[in-house]
Parts: sequence; C-alpha cells; structure tokens
Amino acid sequence: MNCPDCDNDRTRVLDTGSNASGDTVRRRRECCRCSFRFTTYERPEWDSLQVKKRNGDIEPYDKQKLRNGIIRAVEKRPITDEQVAELLETVEAELRARDERIISSSLIGDLVSENLRTLDQVAYIRFVSVYKSFSEPQEFLKELDAVLDAELDDFEDPNRSQ
Ligand SMILES: [Zn+2]
Repeated sequence: MNCPDCDNDRTRVLDTGSNASGDTVRRRRECCRCSFRFTTYERPEWDSLQVKKRNGDIEPYDKQKLRNGIIRAVEKRPITDEQVAELLETVEAELRARDERIISSSLIGDLVSENLRTLDQVAYIRFVSVYKSFSEPQEFLKELDAVLDAELDDFEDPNRSQ
C-alpha cells in the first residue's frame, strides 16, 4: 500500500473499521515518510491466505493460532493484551501489504519476532526458540548471545557472521 503522495511503501494504520456488510475493510493510514493521510477500502481476502510451513505443507492462515503463540511467549511478562493485539495488527498489515496468496511460516515468524524484540527481549527469545525449533542447542545459544550482546552494548554487531 504505497503512499499516494510520495509513493513511500511504509504506511502506518491509524484506524480500522468495516462497512455494514463486513465485506470491505476501511483503513485510515498515514505515510511513515511524509505523514500524508489517506483512507483505503480493502477487500479482505484473508480467509484465503495460505501459509506454507517448513515441511512444505500449506494450510490456511490461522490468526488464533498465531495469537496463542505470542501469548505463550509473553506469559508473565509486562505485556498487555492491547500490545499483543497491536503486534498482530502490525504483522497482518505487513503480510497484506505483500499482496501474496501464499506466505511462508518463517516470514510470519520473522515479522513477529522482529516486533517482539522491540517489546520484550525475554518474550522474543521464547518465541524464537519455539518457531525456529532449533535442532541444536548451540543454535539457540547463539541467538541468545546475540540478544544479550545487543542489550549490553552495541559495540559488537550481533548480525555479524561468526
Ligand atoms: Zn508519503
């Protein structure tokens, strides 16, 4: 969903609603670059969005399942229901913006963990450890180290290749 004014591809959803019959979603958006505000009317083809899993299986996108995964990760962490809902909205908006019918589960996982990371480091690590289902403990520790490094100081780039 590019900005009609400056064509920037990053926009922020300010408000979401639907018409009476529920077949159109209205979104008030703001451009992340020039702050131009506009409204979109989108047909949710959400029911038909498919997720391609790591093992190659394709299944319908399941918001509830994704929400449950996030809720498990933020358990007993200082994260509100509103923050979880907001995170889901952000992730779904990014998925919709891609305009693809089949999305890989790892992309969804990446988007969620990217957003979780800015919210809460512990929740991030929990989520990543589940969705990446590390086959080797070393992989998990490497991920954990990267987070801890970034938390201590930014003098080392956690994304460097080892
Ligand atoms: Zn713009």
